Amino acid sequence: MLNIGCHLSNSKGYMNMCREAASIGANTFQFFTRNPRGGAAKDIDPADAAEALEFMKAHGFVKILAHAPYTLNPCAARPEVREFTENTMADDLHRMEFTPGNMYNFHPGSHVGQGIDTGIELITSMLNRILRPEQSTTVLLETMAGKGSEVGSRFEELRRIIDGCELKDKLGVCLDTCHVFDGGYDIVGDLDGVLAEFDRVLGLERLKAIHINDTKNPFAGHKDRHEKIGEGYIGIEAFRRIVNHPALKELPFFLETPNELDGYGREIALLRGLCE
Ligand code: FE
Ligand code: FE
Ligand code: ZN
Repeated sequence: MLNIGCHLSNSKGYMNMCREAASIGANTFQFFTRNPRGGAAKDIDPADAAEALEFMKAHGFVKILAHAPYTLNPCAARPEVREFTENTMADDLHRMEFTPGNMYNFHPGSHVGQGIDTGIELITSMLNRILRPEQSTTVLLETMAGKGSEVGSRFEELRRIIDGCELKDKLGVCLDTCHVFDGGYDIVGDLDGVLAEFDRVLGLERLKAIHINDTKNPFAGHKDRHEKIGEGYIGIEAFRRIVNHPALKELPFFLETPNELDGYGREIALLRGLCE
């Protein structure tokens, strides 16, 4: 069975997200740890988190995925932005322990003209300060589209970040189908070739989650604009190959398409219907 969910609002807590996910046939979900623009996080209600863990167990949920706010930039040029990013991510990782054993995804960042080497050095040094041996959360680097000076649109860049980290077993990769196609990996024409490349550079064992999105832009556009499943340049036949691929089909899939809850429900049914 396909493990799939969508991005949900966490404004009403974990149990509300669990119920919304279950209501559309999902068995996982993604959420922002706080307002996507950053800022203070609401206190976690430990009873809500505990009830959600029970619900997820009872309903056959797989790992859920928290997403860091968009405004963070671990390799910003301004020290105050890097400090805000580090404090926010460290706090998020503490909060994740209310729901132990799950995953936390972040964008490696934009080097804003400092160069790729400086960018990677800033990202790895931050990770080395905030990752802790006792944490139960796996931190995922998201594959990026390569918009502007984004780091992480090449698998080699993600590999260099991981190589620079001491606690490598706390790290994984989240592959965003829109971003990699936009970044120049042809998952439509040569999915096997892209996954072989991922395996060669990063190792498929590091792949922990898939963001399953279509794209509004043609191949290698470096734009990062998500589209509804089957309505963009990736298309339904490519998604059929993706959800059935032996290297991918056991992973959790997360929709980040432009949809409300009912639209996500239809996409989940559509993707489940593609499974052989
Ligand atoms: Fe993302
Ligand atoms: Fe994504
Ligand atoms: Zn995106």
